[in-house]
Amino acid sequence: MISKIIGEEKIQKTHKYIEKGDSFVIVSHVSPDGDSLGSSLALYHFLTKYGKDNVSVIVPNLYPSFFNWMPGRKEIIVHEKYPEFAEQLIRDADVIFCLDFNEPKRLEGMASAVLAAEGRKVRIDHHLDPADFCRVVISHPEISSTSEMIFRLICRMGLFNLIDKNTAECIYTGMMTDTGAFTYNSNKPEIYTIVGELIKKGIEKDLIYRKVNHAYSESRLRLMGYVLNEKMKIYPELHTALITLSKEELKRFDYRPGDTEGLVNMPLSISGIVFSVFLREDGDCIKVSLRSIGNFPVNEFSGKYFNGGGHLNASGGEYYGLLEDAVALFEKGLAEFNPDNNEETVNHKRDLT
Ligand code: 5GP
Ligand code: MN
Repeated sequence: MISKIIGEEKIQKTHKYIEKGDSFVIVSHVSPDGDSLGSSLALYHFLTKYGKDNVSVIVPNLYPSFFNWMPGRKEIIVHEKYPEFAEQLIRDADVIFCLDFNEPKRLEGMASAVLAAEGRKVRIDHHLDPADFCRVVISHPEISSTSEMIFRLICRMGLFNLIDKNTAECIYTGMMTDTGAFTYNSNKPEIYTIVGELIKKGIEKDLIYRKVNHAYSESRLRLMGYVLNEKMKIYPELHTALITLSKEELKRFDYRPGDTEGLVNMPLSISGIVFSVFLREDGDCIKVSLRSIGNFPVNEFSGKYFNGGGHLNASGGEYYGLLEDAVALFEKGLAEFNPDNNEETVNHKRDLT
């Protein structure tokens, strides 16, 4: 049916941990997105179906409200809200699944608890440059979502029959959100074989799209209008766009987690733009989001200038300091990385018009 991508030994080990373990904790990255929640909840449903009744999903902070419909969401423990309870579960777990992140730092406040825990750790992820903190590492950057990897893992354990509608909905959500509803990183035929299987499990894919993408508040849509009209700076010679938002601006538009999700992608729809950056004041730091097309490496950019990383075309990082200083640093990096020198990428965009 689908090709065997994950190594057999890793499948066996993970299966053994599941079989022998009594208590399970599933952790994922800060600012949970559709793939981190989708893969975590899918694994939660699967383990429950398998017969495990001590399974917890823990995320560092709150997830956006447009995931409020996901099956199993009420079981999610937010570490920021209940740190002691969450850390006790982490300490007591026989097995800890680390999903959709490649370095402990992405767990923010719960990183030290996970690192110190004695349970067997299994990392399932699709980010580049994995850090070494788990016994079993199932890392495949060529796969477009961790949720797809959960599907593959379950199938390879011979347990496809345990995937129910809830599990399928969660897997689909992650596959959909990490590919921009199948508009990037989504040209592998097997993605659609898997989607076909999920539909056979009873999911309504169009409805899932609407639940995630058509649940905006009025103020969120107005914020987008404001950003596109007044806050998007274009560097035409450098094929680049920059968006910044201060705390005051976010407050003015009644900002809620997730409200700026997707904003950074929008400038890439402009002819000629191959690199887009979004700087947002967030607590005591500036959150940085970077996107590109072609082979312009935003993970290298964020690694060098914003203490971050991620994928070739989608990465993030952070900056401690003033927004204007973050802009200055970005412009310094832009001069160095100069997308105009990346002929392949610029020509690729030119070919579209
Ligand atoms: P976003 O811009 O949606 O927050 O993140 C895009 C991608 O960049 C995510 O897939 C995530 O893996 C990665 N990323 C975001 N923030 C960070 C960060 O602070 N450090 C690292 N290493 N990766 C990040
Ligand atoms: Mn992901």
